[in-house]
Amino acid sequence: MEKRRTVPVKLAVESDDAALLEDTVDEFLWAADYVTHHAFEGEYVTTSKTTLHDGTYEDVRDETALHSNHVQAARNKAAEACKSVVEKWKQGKKASMPHFTSPHLVYDHRTATFHDEYVSLATVDGRIETDYVLPDSERDTPHADYFFSDEYETTGAELHYSNGNWMLHIHCKLDVESDTSKQDATENGTVLGVDLGVNNLAVASTGTFWTGDEFDHWRREYENRRGDLQEHGTRWAHENIQSVGRKEEGRFKITLHRISNELVAEALDHGCSVIAFEDLTDIRERTGASWGHKWAFNRLYEYVEYKAAEYGITVEQVDPENTSRRCSECGFTHPDNRESESFECLKCGYENHADYNAAKNIGLRYLRRNQTGSGGGAPVGVCLNSGMVNANGEYEPPAEDSARAGVHAESPRL
Ligand SMILES: [Zn+2]
Repeated sequence: MEKRRTVPVKLAVESDDAALLEDTVDEFLWAADYVTHHAFEGEYVTTSKTTLHDGTYEDVRDETALHSNHVQAARNKAAEACKSVVEKWKQGKKASMPHFTSPHLVYDHRTATFHDEYVSLATVDGRIETDYVLPDSERDTPHADYFFSDEYETTGAELHYSNGNWMLHIHCKLDVESDTSKQDATENGTVLGVDLGVNNLAVASTGTFWTGDEFDHWRREYENRRGDLQEHGTRWAHENIQSVGRKEEGRFKITLHRISNELVAEALDHGCSVIAFEDLTDIRERTGASWGHKWAFNRLYEYVEYKAAEYGITVEQVDPENTSRRCSECGFTHPDNRESESFECLKCGYENHADYNAAKNIGLRYLRRNQTGSGGGAPVGVCLNSGMVNANGEYEPPAEDSARAGVHAESPRL
């Protein structure tokens, strides 16, 4: 069970940063409008997030400088607004195509980092850091009760601009977990499959994506700076190259620690008792990853392994053969099933993001390898965005109506 709260916090935004936020909000609203127009183009209004994603994601990435998670958040906003229009029509009420005007912007834990006294926010041009303006007395305010409480976890926020103020509405949640549900998770859990790659550093079978953008950005920056220094050729420059190297390595590690924390949280959130990765030995040959990527994958694996252990979650590697070519729905394996980021099964027509299909296959491979048929602590299925698939490929919808809205939701096969 979860308790959710929203805490409004005023931000002290400096003028340069305000200009960046304004640009980001403008692009975010433009993206939401763009997706809405797309949704209204056909004979019927499209409300499926997956369909809208496929139809607009590339365009919005091309036309804006938004962080990929902002692009997704704008698409979700649009999909929800379109859905509510369709609902009104169904009830015989009037409603017209939504248009986004009120200045706001949705942040999640990949576009915002919440610190004790300030927040770091992604914009169309890198990140900005801005201080909170907190009430004088923190006692008996929601800030003290939720935001600064160790028990509550910050899940995201919505940035609003009104009456000359930047306000962050921070979402917090408290997991009210009973001991029995924890036990269930380890005794009869599910597998979280994780695919590692270059475009997306990690993709989980629950449909959560961790992009490689940040990693690529730093790697390029590092290469550039090292190139500049090498031109000088002095001893001073040589020493600087080494210190730039150490600094960059430190920054990569911070990102990898964050991703590993989020992966473990994802497993915990979904009651997974195992996190399955593909075997990393020949990952460069398979994926065309650079040495830098291989270094990152190995670090990420190590971090996830020791962090997951604290929660009794096992981390395993499985045989990677054909995980990207095999259809996670019908098992048909063919190199032409996959074309860069899209997977479309030539046999059954199953379509999804290629990395997501691979993450499902990795989870399924673990499950089949370890199937004992007698429970006995063995996981019973692969955890998906919504529901679960067992070793026989049978889909089970979620037990409660706790289905998560996400990018690559599975549609139950009816
Ligand atoms: Zn298939």
